[in-house]
Amino acid sequence: MKQLEPGSRLVVASHNPGKVWEIKQLIAPYGFDAISAGDLKLIEPEETEPTFEGNARLKALAAAEASGLPSLADDSGLEVDALGGAPGIYSARWAGPGKDFALAMERVHDALAEKGAWDGLPPRANFISVLCLAWPTGEHRLFVGRVFGTLRWPARGGNGFGYDPMFVPDGASQTFGEMEPEAKYAVSHRTRAFEAFKRDCLEHVPKANAAAGKGRDLEGLEAAARNLSTQLELARFVAGLREDLARNGASWSAHDIATFLAALETAVASTDVPDAEPRWRTLARALLAASR
Ligand code: IMP
Repeated sequence: MKQLEPGSRLVVASHNPGKVWEIKQLIAPYGFDAISAGDLKLIEPEETEPTFEGNARLKALAAAEASGLPSLADDSGLEVDALGGAPGIYSARWAGPGKDFALAMERVHDALAEKGAWDGLPPRANFISVLCLAWPTGEHRLFVGRVFGTLRWPARGGNGFGYDPMFVPDGASQTFGEMEPEAKYAVSHRTRAFEAFKRDCLEHVPKANAAAGKGRDLEGLEAAARNLSTQLELARFVAGLREDLARNGASWSAHDIATFLAALETAVASTDVPDAEPRWRTLARALLAASR
């Protein structure tokens, strides 16, 4: 089976900067770089396949063929058992042109009410995420992640997006919309698909050697520091800094903990703190500044 070569550049077949950034964070420790289909000005193909797998494959293959690079695409949605898997691949479309997910959730509620599915136990559902890695030759691999649970009405919680406020994963009492983001990431369908991708495609690349000799990836670290929002993302960022120290410690301006703490003190005192900035991000920026 074809593998990613260390140092490869990967196209993320999405025009969504959030998704591209998430994938960049995931692959950077292995010495891979990612660029978005948007940055390459690739045209987004229409999702014409009847399955998540088909649509993820269609998007990944189109980007791989157009760019000549290995490409990663994802497709995801909500499947409700009593609705025969709907809204499924139409999850985004149920929200209409205004992307109104309050409306999409009403539609799910109404469709279930018509079937009397709210009368007994809460209706069962799952989120699904399918990732496809494709090469310009047409070779490709699929990775699937699911999270199972039940639906609630009325919907609850203002976190997350899409159908999150009406979905309670098995074993929890809060909806995804009520959970802190890191609690959702810990069990989410997307995380599970990424884990499968990582196990198959990344973990054969020795982390420490992957980027050896390349120097510090300050651009990547800066992008991570500028974008992170949650406690878990800060923890991942700190892990990234630690790996950078192990590989490129000689390029750090602080060679011992006392010098680093002095640099951190200066950085914390002089870092500008925009009102709306998440504080985890402010801390990440100061940590990175202290290492430079
Ligand atoms: P896409 O894969 O980005 O096209 O997403 C398809 C649709 O599935 C989204 O617009 C959401 O409505 C729904 N969806 C996918 N993942 C989630 C999730 O984690 N929470 C809530 N809704 C989701």
